[in-house]
Amino acid sequence: MKILHNIRLLHMTPSKCVVTERAAIAWVDAKITFAGPKSDLPKPLPGCEWIDGENMLATPALIDCHTHLVFGGNRADEFAARLGGASYQDIAATGGGIMSSVRQTRVQSEQQLVASGVQRARQLLAEGVGTIEIKSGYGLDLATETKMLRVATQIGVQTQQTVRRTYLALHAYSAFEYPVRADFINNASGPWLQALHAAGLVDAVDAFQETIAFTADEVTQLFEAAKALGLPVKLHADQLSASGGADLAARFGALSADHVEHTTRAGAEAMAAAGTVAVLLPTAFYCLRDTKLPPIDDFREFGVPMAIASDCNPGTSPCTSLRLAMHQACTLFGLSIPEALCGTTIHAARALGLHDRGELIAGQRADIALWTIDSPAELVYWLGHLSVRKLLLGGKQVLL
Ligand SMILES: [Zn+2]
Repeated sequence: MKILHNIRLLHMTPSKCVVTERAAIAWVDAKITFAGPKSDLPKPLPGCEWIDGENMLATPALIDCHTHLVFGGNRADEFAARLGGASYQDIAATGGGIMSSVRQTRVQSEQQLVASGVQRARQLLAEGVGTIEIKSGYGLDLATETKMLRVATQIGVQTQQTVRRTYLALHAYSAFEYPVRADFINNASGPWLQALHAAGLVDAVDAFQETIAFTADEVTQLFEAAKALGLPVKLHADQLSASGGADLAARFGALSADHVEHTTRAGAEAMAAAGTVAVLLPTAFYCLRDTKLPPIDDFREFGVPMAIASDCNPGTSPCTSLRLAMHQACTLFGLSIPEALCGTTIHAARALGLHDRGELIAGQRADIALWTIDSPAELVYWLGHLSVRKLLLGGKQVLL
């Protein structure tokens, strides 16, 4: 047994944050057995290890539940071109956009992708992120999708973060590579999915449903195949238009519907009934200079849990700060501090189908972040770097 004492312990719900002074957390192996005022701590076993928390604020380790952080190269040149007045069409016409990331990801070795991916994951780690979801989707062929999911696995081994791997089967379509569109859909939803699943590389399956991406029928074909294999699904839904994404996600009992700026009131109600989490991605909203706000009041009214993620990707959110995403969820979308904190802890865990983390209570994993700050609001308030002081994952201190 280990006991972390002399801490201020944070508990939160979407409506309030509560800090318990002079608190302690005890765990055996990786699992918390006690969290509360030190005065209530059951008599410890002889020989247990005591750790001094130096009066720091203890929060659950943060969870980034939507990233595309494995990719080759970057797209800074496109960013510069857009600032210079180039349109998305101009950029696409010169081979830019998502296909540029596909090309750069295909040519890089597994080792190169691990090196750049670990660097980005470590930046999140420094902000107290203990669990990361990583999507594939820059392969558009089986070999590269396999490589990306193997790289995601390796990142978790190297950083000690929990990595959940999502096969983003329908991300983009290349008419040049697949003159018959149905051939690509059939491959991505059929043999590729089966091979990746058989290799043990898939924790969930995802798609991008949108007028410029994939249709409801195409996503349905993929989701039916995923369900037949017992895999949970997630969806990039209603980002650029009200395209029925939230309803489709709810119909399949999806873990989450992500982006959701254009989700309708009926879509929010369907998500609530299905227990589907709304994953908000304010840094992508910001980078795209979007104006349509997600229906936060409907999510609140129907009790849809709201999570927040970095959406780290080379095109629309070159961001490795989950705290920046929390800050923007508050300033751009109007979330409160407790909502933002639930959004990167308990609700983010639900968006990944994880029930063993996100709260510091008995029975949960000892994933604990320690901060030298006075109030929980500072986690959201500071713009720029605020490092976690100590991070314990599964009860073990990790190197930052
Ligand atoms: Zn995404």
